[in-house]
Amino acid sequence: MTHTPAQEALWATLRLKRPVMWINPYLGERPLGWAPTQAERSAAQARFARCEPLLAALFPELAACGGKVESSLAPAPALQHAMDRQGATGQAWFIKRDDSLPVAGSIKARGGFHEVLALAEALAETQGLCAKGNPLLLASSEARSLFSHHTIAVGSTGNLGLSIGTMAAALGFQAVVHMSVDAKEWKKQRLRARGVRVVEHAGDYAQAVAAGRAQALIEPRCHFVDDENSKMLFLGYAACADHLAMQLAQAGRPVGASRPLCVYIPSGVGGAPGGIIHGLKALFGEHVHCFIAEPVASPCMLVQIASHSSRPLSVYDIGLDNRTEADGLAVALASQLASPLMQAQLSGVFTVTDDQLFDQLLAVKQATGIDLEPSAAAAVDGPVRLIESSEGMQYLHRHHLEPGKATHVIWATGGALVPVQEHQRFQQRALTQAASRNTHA
Ligand SMILES: *Cc1c(COP(=O)(O)O)cnc(C)c1O
Repeated sequence: MTHTPAQEALWATLRLKRPVMWINPYLGERPLGWAPTQAERSAAQARFARCEPLLAALFPELAACGGKVESSLAPAPALQHAMDRQGATGQAWFIKRDDSLPVAGSIKARGGFHEVLALAEALAETQGLCAKGNPLLLASSEARSLFSHHTIAVGSTGNLGLSIGTMAAALGFQAVVHMSVDAKEWKKQRLRARGVRVVEHAGDYAQAVAAGRAQALIEPRCHFVDDENSKMLFLGYAACADHLAMQLAQAGRPVGASRPLCVYIPSGVGGAPGGIIHGLKALFGEHVHCFIAEPVASPCMLVQIASHSSRPLSVYDIGLDNRTEADGLAVALASQLASPLMQAQLSGVFTVTDDQLFDQLLAVKQATGIDLEPSAAAAVDGPVRLIESSEGMQYLHRHHLEPGKATHVIWATGGALVPVQEHQRFQQRALTQAASRNTHA
């Protein structure tokens, strides 16, 4: 594939593995691929709503909140103070706490639960069980024995596997999770303890997905949840928008022309942030500005969008190695389902080094007490990157966006299930690298 001189220059910059802020010049173009309809978005929201009693019955953690798969929106003035020392972003930083979504402990609860529930409803219907009228039928012995003859498989670096595997097993499905080398041991153990079959693969995330997809094709009655292509996952993420709008209104910050919203979300294959951004764009239009964060070694969405082509282009193709501690973000090739939509809806991408991930993880811990996993800390300095980079300033200017008037939502994407010793290891790494910077300064 031939690239323009501007693209070649961008690839060369990315190869330096220094953090960049890249503004998407294609924002507002008509998306060339699939775009969900309003009916599809509403159907996903309705599915979550009607399954609330089922989820409350299946999981004690969800009984407390009536089966709502939702997270809180936490004001973060201390984090704002720690990160934005000039106070240029006003006093309106919030953390969206998807790191503490019930049962799955990550943003993957949204997409993953939605796809498993949709499959369960569809299968039940083929057997004459009308679960749409009464979702508790999905937990009946009749439904369980039906599901026990079906397999749900997924390829994952970890969190999607946790989400899908846990929900599938709870409903009585056979569950298989194909994991890449970088998947953490504790995630595999947790899944096995729930009766999920974990298959380990030597390759990267995409290879684990490919292996799972191939296996599912030859296995009878097997549904493969395809993180690179799934509309059901995407719609589950997109269902977040109305609830966030309500939370912002309750916080005294309803979104509109005088109160624009800026969101910052870590991105791996792009399905989770893509779905969320799509849902927010559908609701708030030009009043929401969406940025994603990617590791310097794995900026797959940036590369795909900047190529301005429907042909897949991976970070390997431009000479990057996809090696990062952010296991959920170690993805070389962006979702070909999400990237065309993101090309039309994303305001920009900023990249972060692994050292920054750990610095930010520690900053969040110290300012708020929240324990994030490294991937989930990727977007934490988004508001600062927007106001302090020349690219960000140009964006603000072009969109007549005053950062002091905007509401800044940092999407925290995972962490609640991570064992305490792991969290301590993350914080220790941050402290060690800070100390070594001080001795070398
Ligand atoms: C999956 C995940 C992401 C990114 O979602 P993608 O759909 O892979 O882009 C971000 N953070 C965490 C913690 C995740 O598990």
